[in-house]
Amino acid sequence: METAQRADRDRGETMLEPDFDPAPTAVQIGRCGYLSPCRAPRCATSYTTIVLRKIDAAGRPVRQIELCDIHAEIMIARERKRGFEIFDRRDWR
Ligand SMILES: [Zn+2]
Repeated sequence: METAQRADRDRGETMLEPDFDPAPTAVQIGRCGYLSPCRAPRCATSYTTIVLRKIDAAGRPVRQIELCDIHAEIMIARERKRGFEIFDRRDWR
């Protein structure tokens, strides 16, 4: 399970190409299955529970960020306000 999620993350990162600038249109919320520090600035939490994945209109991942519960809620509220569609996939195991 952990290996699959890591592979998924790596694939997301390799899709970022310099001359390719897809506009994200939605945010997918998932559970973080691996240990990673929260990416929010100045966050003291050393492990994350949530992964936010920005996806473009075709459903391709544009950007992925690991966050703790608190920063995930803040980020979700902000992205919702900016007009992003929010897909909550936290029920997925
Ligand atoms: Zn945090």
